[in-house]
Amino acid sequence: MRAIVVEQLGAPDVMQVREGVPVPQPGPGQVRLKVEAVGINFADVLSVAGEYLTRTRVPYTPGMEFAGTVDALGEGVTGVQVGQLVACLGGSGSLATYAVAHAAALIPVPASLTAAQAAAFPVSYFTAYHGLKTLGYGQPGQWVWVQAAAGALGTASIQLAKAMGMNVVATASTEEKLELARKLGADVTLLQDDPDRVQKIRAAAASDSNPKGGVDLVLEVVGGPRFQESLDVVINRGRVIVIGNASREQANLRPVELMKRNVTVTGLWLTSLMGDAEATRDAALALTPLIASGQVTPQVGPTYALDESVRAFQDILDRKTTGKVVIEP
Ligand code: NDP
Repeated sequence: MRAIVVEQLGAPDVMQVREGVPVPQPGPGQVRLKVEAVGINFADVLSVAGEYLTRTRVPYTPGMEFAGTVDALGEGVTGVQVGQLVACLGGSGSLATYAVAHAAALIPVPASLTAAQAAAFPVSYFTAYHGLKTLGYGQPGQWVWVQAAAGALGTASIQLAKAMGMNVVATASTEEKLELARKLGADVTLLQDDPDRVQKIRAAAASDSNPKGGVDLVLEVVGGPRFQESLDVVINRGRVIVIGNASREQANLRPVELMKRNVTVTGLWLTSLMGDAEATRDAALALTPLIASGQVTPQVGPTYALDESVRAFQDILDRKTTGKVVIEP
């Protein structure tokens, strides 16, 4: 079979297409999947660069989130049919013709979704749910600031926040990206380099009961020196959920500053939350009907062939993409 192989970490062009890679065999409790579509996350780009939260061991095949057709069942697997389309999240190895996964890690795919949409779903929607609800305690009528709003996580966060009855201020780097954010329901959109962004974000959420303005919740994904802005825009007792650091720069946080307005700053890493069975079940219960009814729709962005993986990764780094970048091996 064909697979992407990374032998040394670095820029996207370290990824090579390898022919003749042995087809993996499913062990006990595992299934083999014919990979139909791989969702590419910012985390994949960081993993290949060796800058992710966990160490990347080489050689390896990237690809942590994908949709595939069940091709073979390992010993002891029940409740899964050969030919069934499922999504899968975790680990690596899906930028290939076939991949193996633990049957317990498979996510059922609503019949309304294409393989590309199914590959665009797990990471972004589970993360958005945990940011807005599990850790953000979002309530109808509250305001949330969604950064990088046209990206995979951003588009998921806007749709989910609106489905929860929240109000959304969205920022992104270009007018085209803001147009997508508005299409998905963002109430107020601002260029992320708008010189008056902090005042405008605060003012967007002003009301009779909140005359000074300020949002209840920030889904922080940019980090670096701009992290301070998240603290500046939240209301008294507001929450900042630290989900990403797309700037790849260090942020300064002075804990004493949080005291002044009783601000909470919370980290969120989906990988470690997936181990929390109750939180994962709650998220799945909330998300499944929204996806199945079409109230939220995974936003599939540009789609590439396996041979174009380097370009796909580079386009994410160059901030050229919207929605979830998908590779179809
Ligand atoms: P996206 O599809 O959103 O792509 C990343 C976006 O980040 C770009 O579109 C761009 O938006 C913005 N960006 C890129 N470089 C910079 C930069 N130098 N400065 C400021 N903004 C930048 O990717 P994902 O949806 O995969 O991820 C979005 C963020 O969420 C990432 O930081 C990622 O690591 C994080 N994440 C974290 C998870 C967790 O478990 N903690 C899970 C999922 C995502 P624009 O051009 O509009 O600024």
